[in-house]
Amino acid sequence: MTLHSPRLSQLPDQADASATRFRLLKLRPAAAALAAVLLLSACASTPLPPWPSTPGTVTAQRPSAPAPVASVQRGTVVPAPLGQERPVAVASPLPPPTALVAQDEGPIAAPPYNAAVEARFPDPAISYDTPGLGRDRRAFTTNAELGQWLRSLAEAVPSGGTRTQLVNAGTSQRGEPILGLVATRAASTDPVALSKSGRPTVLLIGQQHGDEPAGSEALLVIARELAQGLLEPLLDRVNVVVVPRANPDGATAGTRVTANGVDMNRDHLLLGTPEARALAKLVNDYQPILVVDAHEYTAVGRYLQKFNAIQRYDALLQYATTANYPEFLTKASMEWYHQPMVAALKAQGLTSDWYYTTSTNLQDKLISMGGTQPDTGRNVNGLKNTVSLLIETRGVGLGRMHIQRRVHTQVTAITSALRSTAERAANLEQVRSFVVRDVSAMACRDQVVVEAEATRTQRELDFLDPETGADRSVKVDWNSSLTLRPVKVRPRPCGYWLSASSAGAVERLKLLGVQVLRIAEQGSLLADIYRETSRETADRQDVIGNIAGGSGIVRVQVTPMRSAIDAPPGSYYVPLNQPRAHLAVAALEPDTQNSYFANRLITELDHTARIMSTPSLVFEETD
Ligand SMILES: [Zn+2]
Repeated sequence: MTLHSPRLSQLPDQADASATRFRLLKLRPAAAALAAVLLLSACASTPLPPWPSTPGTVTAQRPSAPAPVASVQRGTVVPAPLGQERPVAVASPLPPPTALVAQDEGPIAAPPYNAAVEARFPDPAISYDTPGLGRDRRAFTTNAELGQWLRSLAEAVPSGGTRTQLVNAGTSQRGEPILGLVATRAASTDPVALSKSGRPTVLLIGQQHGDEPAGSEALLVIARELAQGLLEPLLDRVNVVVVPRANPDGATAGTRVTANGVDMNRDHLLLGTPEARALAKLVNDYQPILVVDAHEYTAVGRYLQKFNAIQRYDALLQYATTANYPEFLTKASMEWYHQPMVAALKAQGLTSDWYYTTSTNLQDKLISMGGTQPDTGRNVNGLKNTVSLLIETRGVGLGRMHIQRRVHTQVTAITSALRSTAERAANLEQVRSFVVRDVSAMACRDQVVVEAEATRTQRELDFLDPETGADRSVKVDWNSSLTLRPVKVRPRPCGYWLSASSAGAVERLKLLGVQVLRIAEQGSLLADIYRETSRETADRQDVIGNIAGGSGIVRVQVTPMRSAIDAPPGSYYVPLNQPRAHLAVAALEPDTQNSYFANRLITELDHTARIMSTPSLVFEETD
C-alpha cells in the first residue's frame, strides 16, 4: 500500500467552510446552543500535525513479558500482585482430545488436524490463568465469572492514582449485563472526567461472536494488568474501557450470533440488537480515539476443502477500510498501529498477515480481506473518526486447542495497540481534531462516495500442509480492501431531509452520534429526490455469504432528480456539516444494502431527500 504524505491542500478552507454554515433564522433559545456547536465545528481550523516518518519510539518499547500470571482458583478471582511474575508453565494445557469442548456445547469428537500440524503451534513461554483457562476446565469463563472478575478489579483499593469502575453498557437479549471496566488516572471515572483528562481513551471489545473466546479471555488479562499490573503505567497516557464480552448470550450458547440469530458485527449501522446498541452508547459516552475489536477466525473448515490446506497465521489484522474513511486515519492506522503490531507479534514468535476470509461456497476460491461495507464495528467506528482495529486469532473450530497461544497472541497485539496510543497520544489528538473539522467542512462540496469496492488482485499466502504440517505457499485470487474503488459517487449534499414519520431512523442516527435537527417552521428546500428505477427483495451479504439476520431487504436502484420540496414542521434535517457526516451518508442513501431504506427503517423513498443548497430553516431542539 502506498501512503501519501499529508497534503496541505487538504486543510479546510476557511472561506468555503463558512459558506456551508446554516442560516438559523429567529433562533429560539433552545436552539441557540445547538447552532453554536454547528458553527464552531465549521469555522475552527486545526493545523495538521507534523508526520514523523520514523517513529523510533514505537517499536522500541516492547515489554519484556506481555503480562504476568495470576493465581486464580476456579470461581474465585485473585488478581495478581503488582508486577508479580511466575515461572513459566511448560506442560501442555491441552486436555486429552476427547475432552475438547466448544464452550459449553459438549465435546468435539477429535482434534481438527494431526500431531504434525498441532506441533507447529507450541504453547507460549507464559501461562494465562483466567477462570476459563484453568487446567481442568471444560468451559471458558462464564458470564458470572466474568462479572466477578471485573467487579473484583473495580472494588480493589486504588493505587497510585489509578481508578477503576465497573460499567454496565446494556443488557443482552437474554438479560445478561454487557459489562465493562474503566481504568483511568483521571479525577474520576465518569466520561466527562476522562474527556477532561487530556488523555485519549481506548475502547477494547471482545467476543462479539460468541464462539470466539480468545479475545474475551485476553481482555480479562488486559483488564487486570491495567488495573493493577504491568500495563498500569500506561494510564499516565491513556484511559481505557475494556468490554471483554459484547455478546454474552452467544458466549453461553457457543454461537457466533446473538440470541435472535443476528450477526451483531454487521449491525453497527442498523443497531437493531441491544448488544450493538450497547457498544454504540459506549462510543458516544467515551469518545474513544482507538477501538479494538478482538475476534477469532476459522482455522480449518472450508480452507481444507478449497485449498487442501490449514490456516497458518496466529493473527490476522485489519483496520477500517470503507468509503470516506479519512486518509489521515488510514495513515495513522498503518504507521502508528499496524506496523508496530506486526513487529510486536513477530518478536513473540507469532505470525500475522492481513485479515482475510473466504465464502462458504466451496466452488468460490476467492480470498477477500475484511469487507468495505459500513456495517461492521471496524468500519462504523472508523467513520466515527477513530482508529479502528480488528484482531483475529486462529481459533474458530479449535475448541480449547492452542488456547494459551491464542490468548497470548491477543494480549500481545492489544498491548501493542495500547502502547502505540500512549506513545502517539498528542499526535492522535491532533489528527482527530483535524479530521473532524475536515469532514464537517466538506458539506455541500464536491462529491461523496456512496459505495466502494475492494480491488481484485493475486498474491501468495502461507498455509500448512495438512499431512506434514510444513509451510505451503498458495497463490490465491485476492480481494484487497486496502485499495478501494468507488463504484457509486454522487454530489455531496449539504444534508438530508427526513419526513416526520422517520422517528425510528432518527433514533438510530442519534445512537450513532449523528446530529439530527427537527424543523420548527415550514420551509422550502432545494433537493435531489430519489426516483426509483428498479426494485427487488434480496439478502444482505458480506464476503462470506448471506449475513445472519439480514434477509429480505429492499434493493432499489434510483436516479436523483432536482426538485424544490416543502419541509413541514416536525420533519427533520441531518446536516453533513458535522464530524460523523459519513455515517449519515451510509444510512440515508437508499440504494445500498445497509441503508435504512433497504432495511425498512425508512419505509418510502420520498421520506428522504438530499438537500443541495444551504437551507434557511428554523430548528427546534430534539432530545
Ligand atoms: Zn468474529
